[in-house]
Amino acid sequence: MFAGKEDFKKQYKAEFMETIARPFEECTKREKYEVLAKMICSRAAKLHTETKLGYDKRRAKRVYYFSMEFLLGRLLDNYLINLGVEDTVREGLADLGENLDELLSMEPDPGLGNGGLGRLAACFLDSMAFLGIAGFGMGARYRFGLFKQKIRDNQQEEEPDPWLSNGYPWEIRRSDCAAEVHFGGSVNRRYENGKIYFDHVGYQTVMAIPYDVPIVGYGGKNVNMLRLWQAEPAEEKINLDAFCRGQYSEAFRERDEIEAITAILYPDDSTLAGRELRLKQEYFLVAAGIASIIKNYKFTYGADNWAKFPEKVAIHTNDTHPALCVPELIRVLLDQEHLEWDEAWEITVKTMSFTNHTVMPEALERWPIDLMQRLLPRVYMIIEEIDRRYRENFDHSQPDCQRKLQSTAILWDGQVHMANLSIIGSHSVNGVAAIHTEILEHDVFKDFYQDMPQRFNNKTNGISHRRFLLEANPELGRQISMAIGNSWLFDTYQLKNLLRYKEDPDFLKTLRKIKYENKCRLAWYIERENGISINPDSIFDVQVKRIHAYKRQLLNIFKVMYLYNKIKKDPDAEIPPCTFIFSGKAAQSYDFAKEVIRLINTVADVVNNDASIGGKLKVVFLENFSVSLGQLIYPAADISEQISTAGKEASGTGNMKFMFNGAVTLGTMDGANVEIHELVGKDNIFIFGLSSEQVEDYYRKNNYHSSQLCEEDPELKEITDQLINGFFKDNGEEFWSIHDALIRYNDEYFVLKDFRDYLRAWQETVQAWQETERWTRISLTNIALAGHFSSDRTISQYAEEIWHV
Ligand SMILES: *Cc1c(COP(=O)(O)O)cnc(C)c1O
Repeated sequence: MFAGKEDFKKQYKAEFMETIARPFEECTKREKYEVLAKMICSRAAKLHTETKLGYDKRRAKRVYYFSMEFLLGRLLDNYLINLGVEDTVREGLADLGENLDELLSMEPDPGLGNGGLGRLAACFLDSMAFLGIAGFGMGARYRFGLFKQKIRDNQQEEEPDPWLSNGYPWEIRRSDCAAEVHFGGSVNRRYENGKIYFDHVGYQTVMAIPYDVPIVGYGGKNVNMLRLWQAEPAEEKINLDAFCRGQYSEAFRERDEIEAITAILYPDDSTLAGRELRLKQEYFLVAAGIASIIKNYKFTYGADNWAKFPEKVAIHTNDTHPALCVPELIRVLLDQEHLEWDEAWEITVKTMSFTNHTVMPEALERWPIDLMQRLLPRVYMIIEEIDRRYRENFDHSQPDCQRKLQSTAILWDGQVHMANLSIIGSHSVNGVAAIHTEILEHDVFKDFYQDMPQRFNNKTNGISHRRFLLEANPELGRQISMAIGNSWLFDTYQLKNLLRYKEDPDFLKTLRKIKYENKCRLAWYIERENGISINPDSIFDVQVKRIHAYKRQLLNIFKVMYLYNKIKKDPDAEIPPCTFIFSGKAAQSYDFAKEVIRLINTVADVVNNDASIGGKLKVVFLENFSVSLGQLIYPAADISEQISTAGKEASGTGNMKFMFNGAVTLGTMDGANVEIHELVGKDNIFIFGLSSEQVEDYYRKNNYHSSQLCEEDPELKEITDQLINGFFKDNGEEFWSIHDALIRYNDEYFVLKDFRDYLRAWQETVQAWQETERWTRISLTNIALAGHFSSDRTISQYAEEIWHV
C-alpha cells in the first residue's frame, strides 16, 4: 500500500488537494483525519474489487448477514492495523508534525446499535473478512444512531446523535445499486393460462439507496462490504401547490415521512417496540437486501437457475428483526421469478438461517396482523400461506396438541409470531452459548425441538481479539507476541502457550505493569470527564453494559452500599481500596433501569464525598458507553462483573472482552460464563448465586419470598431501607420504584436472594487480588485460555455447520 513512510507522506499530502482543495498545512485536525480516512477507504474499496473478483472467479458461496444493528466502533485505527501500515502512518505523520492518536480521536463512533447484538454483528464482519468468507453485512443507515447519554443531576438524559453531520468518510454511496421497496396498497388476483398471479397495486414506493462501508480483514488480503440502506423518496416528492401557498411542512410531508424510515435507531434493547415505523424499518431492510441479492445472483448465475440458489447464497438473520426475509424471498421467487410454491419454499428454507439472542419473553417479537396486512398486504398473504401449510402438516392426534400448536403457530391471537416464522422458515436455528441453546431446546422452543431437533444448534459467541486486545491494549499485544510469537493473531488458540510463563516472575511483573498503565490511562479519563481522582493502585471493579434489571447493576451497587455502611460503622474494617466503575445506557422508556442509574450516581455522590472513609471506596459512572469507551475500559479492569440472574443472559460478549484483557470474572453460571468456568477451572474464576435450574424452580413453585428474606438479614434490611428512609434525602427523591420491585413485587431477578453469596464471592476475589503473584497467574490463565472466544472460532463454526462455505 505504501512503499515506506516517505511514500505515505507523498500520497497523503497529494490527497489534500484532491479531496478538500487545500494544502495539509492549512487544515484542522478533523480535516486531517478525514483525508486520511478517505484515503484508506478508497484504497480499501480498490482492494474490495480484487477480493470480489476472486469470489466471482471461484463462484464462492455468498453469506448475507442481515442485522438491524451494526455497532462498528471507529474504523481508522482498526484498518491501519489490519492493513499492516500503522507504524508507517504513525511515523510519517510524526514527520509532518502530526500525532496519529489525536487524529484517531476525531473519528465519530457510529452508534448504529444498542449493545451486544450489534457489536456481535460487527465482530462477525471482521472475522468473515479475515477468514476470506464472501460475507456481506446488510444493515440500515440511521441518520441518528443510539442517543448520546448525558448524566445531569445524577440522571440519564438523552440527546440525539447526529453522527453524520460532518459526513462519514468510510461510506460509498451506490445510487446505481438502488432498490425499490413497496408499502401499502392491495393485491389483485389474475388468472392467465390456468395459473394464478398476484399483482400488488396502489403501493407507495420508497427508494433504498445503499451506502457501502468496506470491511478490511486482518492481513489486508480480503476486503468485504457492509451495505447500509437509506430510505429516500422515489422522485423529488415536493407538493409544489402547498409550497406556493406557504405551507412548507405540508409541501415536504411525504418526503419527510419516507426519510423517517431510516431516521433513527430504535433505542430499545430487548423489549418490543410496538410501533408501525419499526415494522417499516424491518421490511425496508429486508426488501432492499433481498432485491440486491437476487440481482447479483441473476447477474452471476442467470435468470433461470434457481435450484442452485441455496448452494450459492446463505442468508442469516441476526435475531427476528429481519425475519421477513422468509416471506420476502418467497414473494420474489413466486411473483417476480414465477416459481411454484413448493420450489420457492424449499429454496427459502435451505437458504435461511436464524440466531436467537434472548429468552426474555417481552423481547419475542410479535406484530398485530391488521398492521402487517395494511402495511405489507402481499407479504402477509404469504405468511398466511406458510402458517396454513404448517397447520395442515401438524399432527393433530398427538397428545397436548392444542397447546403445542399455540406455541408454534405463526398466526395466533391476532398476531404474527416472528420467532415461529423464523424457525419454520429456516434450516438452522442457533443459540449463542451452550446454556442458552439448552434453554431454547428444552424450554422456550421445546415443541419445535421435539419435532425437528436437527434444526437446532449452538454457536457460542465470540469477539474480535484484534479490536479488543491488539488495538485496545497494544502493549499487551506486543508483550504476547514477544513471548509466544504473533501466530495468536491468526489462531487465537496459540494464546495457550502463555501458560508456560505462569511461573515466570518477570513476565508476571510485565503483565502487572501493563495493567497498571492501562489503569492510569483510564484514571486520567475519569479525572477529566468526571472530575473524580482515582487511585490506580486500587482494585478496578468494573460493570459496563446496557442497564437492565436482569443484568443486576442493582446487586453491584448494593454491594457498594454494604461496604460503605460497614466502613462507617467500623473505620478499621479490612477493605483494600476499591474503585467501582459503571457505564451503560438505559433504554429511553425503561424507568426502572433509569432509576438504577440515578441510584448509582447518588451512591457515588455520598461515597466519593465522605472524607471519613479515607478514600477507600470510589464509585464512578462513566456516561455514554460506546465501543470506543469500551476499548479504554476493558483493558483497565481487574474484576469483570458478569452477574446476571442465571438463565437470563443469553451469552454476553463483554465477559469475553474482559477475559482477553486479563480481567477476572466474578459471575453467575449464566451465558458464556459457564464456558469460561469450564475452560479456566474453578480456581481462575469466581462464581456465585442461584443456578438457572434453581431460578426456574422458584418461579415454578412460587416459593421465594423476598420480604421475609430481607427481614431475616439486618444488613440487607438496612440497605433496602436506605432506598426510602431519607438516607439520600439531600440528593433528590427516594427510590421507591426500586424498593417496590424488590419487596412488593418479590424481587423477580433474585437480587436479595443472591446478595450474600455475591458478597462471599466478591470477598474471595478481593482476597485473591491481594495475593499479587497468585492474582497475576489467574489473570494470565484467563488470557491464555481466552482464545476459544475469538469470533474467528465462532464464524468458522457458522461457516462449516450452518452456511456450508
Ligand atoms: C461488548 C459490548 C456490549 C455487550 O456487553 P455485555 O456485557 O455482553 O452485555 C455492549 N455494548 C458495547 C458498546 C459493547 O462493546
